Amino acid sequence: MADPGLFDAAAYQVEPAPVEKVSADRRRAQRQAAAIAAGWHPLGLALGRHLRLHPDAPRSDDRTTPGPRCGSCWYREVLGHHNRSYGKCTVEDGARISNGAGTDVRRWWPACRDYSPGDPQLSADAARYIPEAVHA
Ligand code: SF4
Repeated sequence: MADPGLFDAAAYQVEPAPVEKVSADRRRAQRQAAAIAAGWHPLGLALGRHLRLHPDAPRSDDRTTPGPRCGSCWYREVLGHHNRSYGKCTVEDGARISNGAGTDVRRWWPACRDYSPGDPQLSADAARYIPEAVHA
């Protein structure tokens, strides 16, 4: 004979809320956004050290806020690897470059303290030409 038990437990069982799966790329983007809000450059996360933002760089991931950004920095270069291209920071003789996605430098990122304005399509001397500084 089956044990009838004290009560029907099925009526009190609750379905667990679905756990949102977040990809590694999404988690990295969230950590990078938090670093920017705290005044640190997101590349520092991959380097394992704090990398201060440029004093004029925006402190949010709002891509329309004016200020210096990695995309206009002379040190950001697009490097090829296995038929793909990756934006990397070439300052510090390549110490900021790895094969991992963590050292990919987004053009919209707020600039770090080492920002140097220039167009990477130009020669190094031409890229450092800043008209405002000459005529000021
Ligand atoms: S040196 Fe330039 S490219 Fe490199 S992280 Fe700083 S602003 Fe970005």
